Amino acid sequence: MDPAAAAPDPKRALFAPVSVLRDATPQRIEQLRRLGIETIRDLLFFFPRDYADLSDLRPIRQLEEDKVQTIRGTVREIDGSSSGFARSRVGVLVQDESDYLRAMWFNQPFMRDKFFVGQRVQMSARPRKKGGRWEMAHPNVVYLDAEETVPTGKLLAVYPLTEGLTQYYARRLIHAGLQQYGGMLDEVLSEHLLEEYDLAPLADALPAIHEPLDHAALNAARRRFTFQELFVLQLALAARRFQQRVSFKAPELPATAQIDARIRRLFPFELTAGQNAAIADVSQDIALDTPMNRLLQGDVGSGKTVVAVYALLCCVANGAQAALMAPTEILARQHAATLEKLLKQSRVEYRLLVGGLSTSEREEILRGLASGEIDLVIGTHALLQDSVEFKRLGLVVIDEQHKFGVRQRAALRRGDQSPHYLVMTATPIPRTLSMTQFGDLDVSILRDMPPGRQPISTYLVEPDQQARWWKFVRDKLAEGRQAYFVAPLVEESESVSAASVKAAFDELTHGELAGHKIELLHGRMSHAEKEVVMNRFRKGEVQVLVSTTVIEVGVDVANASVMIIASPERFGLSQLHQLRGRIGRGSHPGFCGLLAPAELSDVARQRLEAFGGTTDGFKIAELDFSMRGPGDLFGDKQSGLPPLWYANLVRDREVVEEARDAARKLYAADPGLKSPENHKLRKQMLQRYGEVLELGDVG
Ligand code: ADP
Ligand code: MG
Repeated sequence: MDPAAAAPDPKRALFAPVSVLRDATPQRIEQLRRLGIETIRDLLFFFPRDYADLSDLRPIRQLEEDKVQTIRGTVREIDGSSSGFARSRVGVLVQDESDYLRAMWFNQPFMRDKFFVGQRVQMSARPRKKGGRWEMAHPNVVYLDAEETVPTGKLLAVYPLTEGLTQYYARRLIHAGLQQYGGMLDEVLSEHLLEEYDLAPLADALPAIHEPLDHAALNAARRRFTFQELFVLQLALAARRFQQRVSFKAPELPATAQIDARIRRLFPFELTAGQNAAIADVSQDIALDTPMNRLLQGDVGSGKTVVAVYALLCCVANGAQAALMAPTEILARQHAATLEKLLKQSRVEYRLLVGGLSTSEREEILRGLASGEIDLVIGTHALLQDSVEFKRLGLVVIDEQHKFGVRQRAALRRGDQSPHYLVMTATPIPRTLSMTQFGDLDVSILRDMPPGRQPISTYLVEPDQQARWWKFVRDKLAEGRQAYFVAPLVEESESVSAASVKAAFDELTHGELAGHKIELLHGRMSHAEKEVVMNRFRKGEVQVLVSTTVIEVGVDVANASVMIIASPERFGLSQLHQLRGRIGRGSHPGFCGLLAPAELSDVARQRLEAFGGTTDGFKIAELDFSMRGPGDLFGDKQSGLPPLWYANLVRDREVVEEARDAARKLYAADPGLKSPENHKLRKQMLQRYGEVLELGDVG
């Protein structure tokens, strides 16, 4: 289903198979089907992935240096050394009616196979004149059909096609489709919306997406489809927010002056301004009988646990039960240890519910939760399992939100009763992302850090500097510090040339760190095995922990001051930031060494250098986001939402905000989207998001 599409048309014509179009041979129909195109409507909403700009199309003889221009011609010669990857060069000689031009590719030997003599091509790049001959390096290429004439527009659509289908054919077929069926499309957005948000009507936007006359027309069309897709998503999120408020009741958990004072007395330090502000947000929410759905964002080490503990204890003080969930057992145990310190003098009954408990221990906890004897439980996702029943669950705190999807958040509701939810993430989320993936949540942000944080220096360690780096590491260990060594994979794999922890472990034990106490930690070890190693590391019995990213979230060992990361180019910046956040936690400055591989692309080097230049998690998140997009960390899998199909959260940041404001406004004016002019929007919203966001029968 494409979200930007109009609502199904009563005139069935749009749902006719593409075979009704002239030119649609069985073979081509099969190729189209592989692209997901079966009906006329699929075809019309099969959007270009790019456009070739013909606005500065010139004869070769009239080219100028230093500006992007386009030429068209016929391939006359192909040459080049394709002896392996290093320093290969492919040259393609192109001729038009005025002159010859040489196109060149370096280190892309495969380009040689993309051309044949006699082929018609169009190339765009900044040309240079060398020895009297025009050259283009790495031009943008459009392969033209022999019979294709210059189109009227100046922008030529380029479609994401599969083998066998030519761009020319796709353009021709879509052109025919537009001619015959374009007029039958049904507008989804009301006149009113089109006008207020300055959006092109579908009848203009669809032809302009395929055959734009100029950049202005294309931009207007793009804006319309981007806005529509984001708007429908934001409407769904607004509907969900609205529904949560009206359909669920949560216990009122007011932080009375007495409760507030009792909880604050437990903390051995002054709270930061950010912590106080977040606590104020949370207290306000949970005092009401509408469930809180709040996201607490704060960089690694910003002190989110304090806010969580405050909320949990406020809940317990009000006679309701509270649950704290962490993504890993290591973290759950760490939270339990923190609470143990804070709750020494209190009568709060709390338990740690994790794997590895005996059946009787586990059953005792489950009984205590069901009877209400246990006030507070700490655990992993296992808490979401159905066997866990609470007597009166008031609050759930979910640490490291990005590992929990929309659906999981709903799992602890019973009937019309819902606990309050506080979800926390240590990975700062770029604004546009938190407005989409987590758009149904209210947000509090901890921007300040508790006092006394140690500076962290980050180095990109080149291969020839590694001996010196390891000497530095040995010096730190001799001073009594501890270190982490992180590598991406568990076992050596031939297909992926990444360092593996096991191989690294063997190498280090016999090489640079011989004679030191090193231990291995990875995800395939049992909980008990991991716990033994972590404890030894915490106690300082292990000097270096060689690990996969299982230590990424939340692990807190103050004496560890060195972080070494192998194959850093394989991690996202936000993930590197998480890893780096493990050090500089105690009274010692931190040192982070990124071991550069022998071959590092310019782009990767730039990313890593930018990362070394800042420790501000929000800056890093924005940087990572603009370079890689949402990536794995906040990918669609984690959010539970279907992928966006047309809008791009990096490119279309501004539209995200506009669409959100517009959606909230419309939904507030017409809750449930009941008015006739919003009927089609409502239908589209439910079609796409009704199930995943459990919108049911809205309103
Ligand atoms: P995160 O936000 O990464 O979960 P934590 O809650 O684990 O951060 O806090 C990091 C460290 O900072 C902990 O050791 C905690 O005790 C300490 N801390 C938290 N708040 C304060 C504060 N206001 N003043 C001093 N230290 C604090
Ligand atoms: Mg934490």
